[in-house]
Amino acid sequence: MDFTISDELKMLRDLARQFVEKELIPLESVYVHPELPEEPRLALEKKAIALGLWAAAAPATFGGGGVNNLGMAIIHEEMGKTCLRFELGNPANWAILALGTPQQIERYLIPTIKGERHSMIALTEPNAGSDAAAIEATAVRNGGHFVLNGTKVFSSRWERADFMLTFAKTAPEKGRNGVTCFIVDNNTPGVRHVRWITVLGGRRTSELRFEDCRLPMSAVLGEVDKGFDLMQKRVGNSRFVLSSTAIGTSVRCLKMAAAYAKHRHTFGQPLASRQAVQWMLADSAIDIRAARLLVHDAAWRADNGTGTRTDASICKVFATEMVGRVVDRAIQIHGGIGVTQDLPLERFYSQVRTLRIVEGP
Ligand SMILES: Cc1cc2nc3c(=O)[nH]c(=O)nc-3n(C[C@H](O)[C@H](O)[C@H](O)COP(=O)(O)OP(=O)(O)OC[C@H]3O[C@@H](n4cnc5c(N)ncnc54)[C@H](O)[C@@H]3O)c2cc1C
Repeated sequence: MDFTISDELKMLRDLARQFVEKELIPLESVYVHPELPEEPRLALEKKAIALGLWAAAAPATFGGGGVNNLGMAIIHEEMGKTCLRFELGNPANWAILALGTPQQIERYLIPTIKGERHSMIALTEPNAGSDAAAIEATAVRNGGHFVLNGTKVFSSRWERADFMLTFAKTAPEKGRNGVTCFIVDNNTPGVRHVRWITVLGGRRTSELRFEDCRLPMSAVLGEVDKGFDLMQKRVGNSRFVLSSTAIGTSVRCLKMAAAYAKHRHTFGQPLASRQAVQWMLADSAIDIRAARLLVHDAAWRADNGTGTRTDASICKVFATEMVGRVVDRAIQIHGGIGVTQDLPLERFYSQVRTLRIVEGP
């Protein structure tokens, strides 16, 4: 197998690297709270759109970059090198691209590609997370529309999203074969933001309630009762991006640890001269290489039509456990300063713990 990165993808990597180094890393010490305020976020979005990084995976016919899975892995490895919480693109794009009607593409997909609208996913419920087929929200057909009721928790991006993909049982007796995906505008009457749920590191997610929300038939994404397959496919896709982000974070932390080990002296010698420290650095380099090979192999398979959801899950498990080890070693090498807010390691540490839970543990 040839894992040489093409010149085109190298250019894409350099573009993403410059964006991260020039635009994002300098803001890390300015915005230490995990939620980036709206004004700088919108300014960064404009820059990412201008560079073609915002909706890189969407087809060029819709104004996207037409970048393949390997290209997306390369972009997200660069994005993982910053602890500033700025995410490229929209979580709903992939599903709307796959199954959206021309009207849904016009109303939701194209505006998100242009940065005019923002999406979120509301799937998880108090009694259904990794076992997503156990959701209890219901959408009951009533003439020409559905009536949606239920509670969703841990939904990210409420503060910036204006529509969501949500999932509800339309045929509860059919289990996973009775789940439908809906595109819901966040200002639909009956959609209620109940409370913020703050997680590790101060990041915010939301609890939402649907109270007799009237949804037109045109809100169904794909086919009625076929939403479970869709969410499983989307999870495969997002696990891939998440794995690449973990690799980028690991690369930055290893680089910091190696530089610090050379510079910091204890007992008359640089830390880097101690074999115990060298082992930590070497183990991190090995971990990163293994994760990148897994992801590039899986991306290559996906681009060549032989990818599976198992590939994406293997990448996710390995890369998210790997980044935990690498950040932990980097902190250990830094000692006390490693856990201060003077360095990004402390923020990376809390961010990467969450990765082993989100998008399915
Ligand atoms: C920061 C953050 C952001 C999130 N954003 C979103 C979002 O935008 N939209 C959304 O819908 N959801 C979101 N989630 C929810 C997330 O997807 C769920 O938390 C995740 O799927 C796990 O579900 P759960 O928390 O219900 O854990 P459970 O499913 O209750 O599982 C609990 C633990 O049990 C273990 N476990 C589960 N099943 C098995 C098994 N079969 N065998 C062995 N062990 C098992 C796992 O270790 C798991 O961590 C977010 C969560 C967090 C923390």
